[in-house]
Amino acid sequence: MLPGGIGGNQVTSVIVAPRPAWRGGATASTGPSARLRSDQNVGGEGLGPLGIARGHRHDGDATYRHRGPLARRRVSHGGAGRKRNVTAVQPAQPFDRRQLFRRAGALAAVAGPAILLGACGAGTQPPPVTIPTTIGGPPDWNALATALRGSVVVPSDASYGTAKLLFDTRFDALDPAAIAFCQSASDVQRCVDFARRHGVQLTARSGGHSYAGYSSCPGLIIDVTGMSDVTVSSNSSSSNSSAVIGAGARLVDIYSTLGSQGVLLPGGSCPTVGIAGLTLGGGIGVLGRRYGLTCDNLASLDLVTADGRVLTCDAEHNPDLFWASRGGGGGNFGIVTSFTFQVHPIPDIALFTVDWPWAAATDVLGAWLGWLPAAPDELWANCQLDSSGGAGGGPSIKITGVYAGSVADCTAALAPLRAAVGAAPSSQFVGPETYERAMMIEAGCEDLSVAQCHLPSQNPAGTLDRSTFAAASAYVVDPFPAAALTAVTGAVAGANPTPFGGAMIFDGYGGTIARVPAAASAFVHRDAIAGIQYFTSWGASAPSSVAEAALAWLASTSEALAPYTTGAYVNYIDPAQPDFLNAYYGANLARLVDVKHAVDPDDVFHFAQSIPTVVPG
Ligand SMILES: Cc1cc2nc3c(=O)[nH]c(=O)nc-3n(C[C@H](O)[C@H](O)[C@H](O)COP(=O)(O)OP(=O)(O)OC[C@H]3O[C@@H](n4cnc5c(N)ncnc54)[C@H](O)[C@@H]3O)c2cc1C
Repeated sequence: MLPGGIGGNQVTSVIVAPRPAWRGGATASTGPSARLRSDQNVGGEGLGPLGIARGHRHDGDATYRHRGPLARRRVSHGGAGRKRNVTAVQPAQPFDRRQLFRRAGALAAVAGPAILLGACGAGTQPPPVTIPTTIGGPPDWNALATALRGSVVVPSDASYGTAKLLFDTRFDALDPAAIAFCQSASDVQRCVDFARRHGVQLTARSGGHSYAGYSSCPGLIIDVTGMSDVTVSSNSSSSNSSAVIGAGARLVDIYSTLGSQGVLLPGGSCPTVGIAGLTLGGGIGVLGRRYGLTCDNLASLDLVTADGRVLTCDAEHNPDLFWASRGGGGGNFGIVTSFTFQVHPIPDIALFTVDWPWAAATDVLGAWLGWLPAAPDELWANCQLDSSGGAGGGPSIKITGVYAGSVADCTAALAPLRAAVGAAPSSQFVGPETYERAMMIEAGCEDLSVAQCHLPSQNPAGTLDRSTFAAASAYVVDPFPAAALTAVTGAVAGANPTPFGGAMIFDGYGGTIARVPAAASAFVHRDAIAGIQYFTSWGASAPSSVAEAALAWLASTSEALAPYTTGAYVNYIDPAQPDFLNAYYGANLARLVDVKHAVDPDDVFHFAQSIPTVVPG
């Protein structure tokens, strides 16, 4: 139960910047750096492994910069579990989410010998394909390239080294036989047909952010990033707008295009995540308690099946496949080429961040878990506990989020939380923002253009980097007892100092998400108060001992919390997750297996944690 009362401590009165002119405000917004009263005790500049800026002083005033729900990720590892050869220790450096994406390298883009065959629009027919190769013979990649509107990259191509890369540098040693950059559903059909004829393993790739590297394989990567158009059907004056989004679109481009037309789609924060993986696994984001998961807003999708058909799936057509595609996870049933979403008029938006001293960490987390279920749907928040890794300084805790409404309503909604914590925050920021800029801030791209908020391989102006991380996940259904709270803070403090970063991010669920029945879509975790992400990261060139220590921290931390948690999030797919099918899908597993058996009886879409065609013994 929450302690009652509001304003039980002395802290903050926020001087809020005027609303931006384009939203009807009088002057340009000063955005998330809206100034606080100078009587605040703002912590010194510092960034934990999750990269949360702790605030800084500016012109004599305390200022606070809101950072997104977290500078979440550095990456996980996949089934391959490869260790890199390294020569020097690289302690985990503090960084924010933007820095996270600015680290080295480049993800697969396009290249290779593109052989244009003219338009091959998506259809609903079996593929009109005759590929001049010998069935069962070695794959003739030139023949495939000739059949595609897009291109095929093989190891002998100069672009191969970049084209094969995923977001996580841990998978850089994976060497697919070929990467097909598809431009149409027909291209995808031809790739599936080709791979099946030659017995070549295949996998779909959209944004390439799979935590386990499951969008690569030794055979053919079928890349859909050439299909990334975003088209809004009507403008913000309609409350019933929809958007058709190509399966290879990245979140930053989606939010930018939708925002410019006055509508939004709830989704994740990482700008370079692909819409396909995000949607198929669920899609938790900063507007989720108000508008639901990304998959809850899905109206229909087009998908190429293992037998080469293009199926449109919605509530009336192929409803089982439509059900399975909302939370069943990417890569299981076919290759999606296009999604149609319901989109929403953009409301007022407020961003907030509240920091407390680490000494209050158990009180803050306990209060947050108790407060969130009763908070308005308009409010989404997460609670981030972040070690400082090897950067020095102590661990940190903060609550940050987005309010789909006014600053005044946001401030009022935060008051019970502060009262419940008891201890005074070290800083609080609440300020108005436009949707487009809010999503750029959440992406860690507040100082960048949309073009810059990409990997260099995705956009010539891109300035973001890939990352090296591992993660696990679980759900919180009941508020934590004291022992669980202590286990959390002990684990984060225990990763401090170490040559790797360790963090726990509690993402808010509930609200609109919880009002969807657990059996209404494949996403089963509807009763969760929060999802936890256990997260560790280290330098890409750190010695294997650092990676091993980071993974050991991850395993011991998730194990320590296991008695108090349930399930796991398939979008934080984890090769080390025991009993992963039940963890990801719970009571929906049996129906998912039925759908798999019906649509892919030969298990063509197979990977280490894919849904099987029969219920496992
Ligand atoms: C930095 C970072 C931040 C993240 N932030 C969030 C967040 O805020 N909220 C959240 O919910 N999740 C978040 N995630 C997790 C993310 O949703 C998943 O990693 C998601 O699977 C990534 O999708 P993708 O298309 O980028 O990845 P990919 O690696 O391309 O694909 C993921 C899986 O889907 C399959 N797949 C890809 N394309 C298709 C297709 N067209 N049809 C069928 N299957 C396909 C792949 O084979 C693979 O199994 C984040 C991940 C990272 C790395």
